[in-house]
Amino acid sequence: MMERELVMATNNAHKLEEVRQILGCDFSVKGLNDIGCTEDIPETADTLEGNALQKARYVHEHYGVDCFADDTGLEVEALGGAPGVFTARFGAMNGYGESHDADANIRCLLDKLEGAATRAARFRTVIALVQGSKEHLFEGIVEGTILLQRAGKEGFGYDPVFAPLEADGLAFAQMSAEAKNAISHRGRATKKLAEYLLREK
Ligand code: IMP
Repeated sequence: MMERELVMATNNAHKLEEVRQILGCDFSVKGLNDIGCTEDIPETADTLEGNALQKARYVHEHYGVDCFADDTGLEVEALGGAPGVFTARFGAMNGYGESHDADANIRCLLDKLEGAATRAARFRTVIALVQGSKEHLFEGIVEGTILLQRAGKEGFGYDPVFAPLEADGLAFAQMSAEAKNAISHRGRATKKLAEYLLREK
């Protein structure tokens, strides 16, 4: 049986590896570099769904390949669901450091939650798949709480302050990549994508 080719709209080696592991050897998943896409893909929508679709459609239209793209947001209850689609820029938007600066994002979040009645939060990932004329969305959610201070060294982004409910108080940054992927927002969305692709193969 021939491998099926798919492009993931990312150059993040960690994400590509995670997806390849879940999809298995029936699929050959390429990144943007592999297809010569080096330009910045617009990400200007105001929802995770909108951004994921925007990225996947862009690659499909400009490069003529089946493509999927993901977008993730942290949704904090005491902040009315913010930062959501602005998660990567949360610190910068509030006067803390540069966009995509994980330390600044965490400092901003901890300050905003000082004295909050609830520290409930969730990570939500949306994956958009564009295949020929077909489009599909897959969602993965992990519920948790924002810790009072950082814990652990693994992972990236908000991992030191996000404790999933299923991990008995441990932060994502205190878990192995394998343990995190098994319950993470992105892991869950990717598994739904994999189930769909394998079913319609
Ligand atoms: P992206 O959509 O994967 O680029 O992620 C958007 C924002 O969410 C960035 O600030 C990431 O650091 C953060 N983020 C995404 N996934 C995770 C995760 O698994 N742990 C911690 N932070 C994450």
